[in-house]
Amino acid sequence: MKVSLREIGEVKTTIEFEIPAERFPVLREMALRGEVAFPGTIASRLTLQRVSDLIEVEGTISCTARLSCARCLAEFDLPIATAVRLAYTRALPEAQAPGDAEAVDPEVLDLLPFSGEEIDLTEGVQEEIVLALPLRALCREDCRGLCPRCGADWNRGPCTCPQQEQAGPFAALRNLKIGAP
Ligand SMILES: [Zn+2]
Ligand SMILES: [Zn+2]
Repeated sequence: MKVSLREIGEVKTTIEFEIPAERFPVLREMALRGEVAFPGTIASRLTLQRVSDLIEVEGTISCTARLSCARCLAEFDLPIATAVRLAYTRALPEAQAPGDAEAVDPEVLDLLPFSGEEIDLTEGVQEEIVLALPLRALCREDCRGLCPRCGADWNRGPCTCPQQEQAGPFAALRNLKIGAP
């Protein structure tokens, strides 16, 4: 996702990308670990603009994440659409960086460094996608999960295990009070 500085001026330029997830190192890693798959492409529409020393990038990223439900383990596709705002600043030459108390630390200001005559949006974009993924993926908000005893998928209906175990987490508390099971 490299953009030549020549294409970026003080007037906004809009660039659209549609790139397979394998081209993003962090997303590829996550897919290899089986945490998530990205069946389609990563689509983004970004507006770039030079604002004094900064290159400001704004826009949207969308893709489909294939996740496993934390409760019922079923695979499901989650559409992801997230807004991005990134700012790039030219990396300081090595000689200037250390020991200079006045130097602006790009990390602190949340600025992404670039060097040379192009900026690479790959890292900034993949980070936004990772942040947009749910911490605990659920196939649906009210997923009933699996029966801890027989493994039946309670979304498909109750199993034949004793009723009180199927009434949800509070049933267990009630059981504790009366000393059962
Ligand atoms: Zn589920
Ligand atoms: Zn059961």
